[in-house]
Amino acid sequence: QRPEARDFIRQIVREDLASGKHRAIRTRFPPEPNGYLHIGHAKAICLDFGIAREFGGWCNLRLDDTNPGKEDPEFVEGIKEDVRWLGYGWHDLRHASDYFEVLYRAALKLIEDGKAYVDDLSPDQMREYRGTLTEPGRDSPYRGRSVAENLDLFRRMRAGEFPDGSKTLRAKIDMAAGNMNLRDPALYRIRKVPHQNTGDAWPIYPMYDFAHALSDAIEGITHSLCTLEFEDHRPLYDWCVDNVDLAGHPELWRPVAEAAGLDVQPSKPRQIEFSRLNLSYCITSKRKLAELVQRGLVDGWDDPRMNTLRGLRRRGFTPGGIRLLIERLGVSKQNSVIDYTLLENCIREDLDDHAPRRMAVLDPLRLVIANLPEDHEESLAFANHPKDEAQGARQVPFARELWIEREDFAEVPPKGFKRLVPGGEVRLRGVGIVKCEDVVKDAGGRVVELRGTLDPASRHGMPGADRKVKGTIHWVSARHAVAAEVRLYDRLFNVPAPDDESDGRSWIEHINPEAKRVVRGWVEPAAAQAAPETHFQFERLGYFVSDRLDHRPDAPVFNRAVTLRDTWAK
Ligand code: ATP
Ligand code: MG
Ligand code: MG
Repeated sequence: QRPEARDFIRQIVREDLASGKHRAIRTRFPPEPNGYLHIGHAKAICLDFGIAREFGGWCNLRLDDTNPGKEDPEFVEGIKEDVRWLGYGWHDLRHASDYFEVLYRAALKLIEDGKAYVDDLSPDQMREYRGTLTEPGRDSPYRGRSVAENLDLFRRMRAGEFPDGSKTLRAKIDMAAGNMNLRDPALYRIRKVPHQNTGDAWPIYPMYDFAHALSDAIEGITHSLCTLEFEDHRPLYDWCVDNVDLAGHPELWRPVAEAAGLDVQPSKPRQIEFSRLNLSYCITSKRKLAELVQRGLVDGWDDPRMNTLRGLRRRGFTPGGIRLLIERLGVSKQNSVIDYTLLENCIREDLDDHAPRRMAVLDPLRLVIANLPEDHEESLAFANHPKDEAQGARQVPFARELWIEREDFAEVPPKGFKRLVPGGEVRLRGVGIVKCEDVVKDAGGRVVELRGTLDPASRHGMPGADRKVKGTIHWVSARHAVAAEVRLYDRLFNVPAPDDESDGRSWIEHINPEAKRVVRGWVEPAAAQAAPETHFQFERLGYFVSDRLDHRPDAPVFNRAVTLRDTWAK
């Protein structure tokens, strides 16, 4: 199968190019700047930008800013940064608010054509008149207003003469339509709230369906990809595009485009829906993510426990790993919940390929190699990556006193224990075989130091170098290692469906108190010296990243992205 035909959307796009319906593919990614992007958005981004790129077209980044008061320029900057981080760039950066004047003229045109009217019903009354799935709606008493009266009232709405909510502009479609979205949907509402881009220029704001459909048409979008919940809105989307007919009415947009220097090439876009990405152990509602931040339950939108893109980034997840997940999941119209382990596995796979190896000890126990002189010091060359020679090597200092992981020693070993025991042998990674000769304890009986001897014949290049011992452990030189703050992260929720409140428990109650644990550890110098946001595998421990904000070579900070193996499997 050709790669570009691997799902039904790519199939449509390919056919549209082959048939000559479109000469170029144009898509858009339209987030509302009312929060930061989350893992769910990654799917839309990979589709919108990915398909445009694969077919040699382009994708716009459009901020859907039609809800003044809820939106913030801070989020616009964050969205731009996150899209770039995922590996994509946009053709044009647009705002739905760039089109407020065009949308206003389009609304006037619909009124002139007898296809829209000003309604005085209150929101509650409107709901009551709308009917139900089984009952047709009733016409509003204002539905019969003349074109002249509607034009006058709508112009006065625009002039700010009426209070919020007192009037609405509605499309005149069909109050008995089976599809509720066609029962005279609202096109404009009055809202005297300053807007982050247009200030107080507008006391009225277009509704989502109207603004979205026309923004697509204005930008010349060919394929408007969105999530399944908009399937029922598609007839309204088409109604807006067809009845405004931008291509046939350049007077609606040309003067505005010329004044603002906007490139407008109206199209008749096709809306195509796909299923949302839902991940277990995740919350993908911006409102709830905001609540976590506002209540101080996490340390901000970029807290590594958050499944926002910036949280995952800070955690050490990679754009390549996230893109791999989206590619693996494919595109369909089937809603499902994806196991979080699948995301973690994609991150592991990407980091396994790309992350250099380092040694770090997170729960240190001193090991003294008694048969080496006090001042013994050597520098050992270690490959950065076992499967990728191109990654080269680094020098690892080795000396008489080492830190090893406390759990790599057991005085009374459990069955099957392959690491260090009193009188036993283990291989020190890259050094040779060491035998534990003595166990030093403090007054309380706690093991504070091990003393051992290194078998000189087991060292690299020596005849006994290949001698078999059961286990291999990692280490760092106590004198050379750099003390590091290591943040051990885990899933933010301890149940697969935190959102499911059918058992009467709020999603907040499912927060995993163990999701962040901070320890002091020791890392080899080559790890400490890394630039912020460098990914490593700490051997035998997991994948880590130097924190992009807090890490300094003299005070290193590492975040655990993911353990080497799934620890959540049942
Ligand atoms: P919320 O309801 O939490 O505010 P949203 O879906 O309204 O989220 P938008 O900013 O409007 O967020 O989303 C921008 C685009 O991303 C839309 O096209 C939307 O369909 C898509 N998107 C949002 N969430 C997901 C998801 N979980 N999976 C796939 N696409 C998504
Ligand atoms: Mg939303
Ligand atoms: Mg939305």
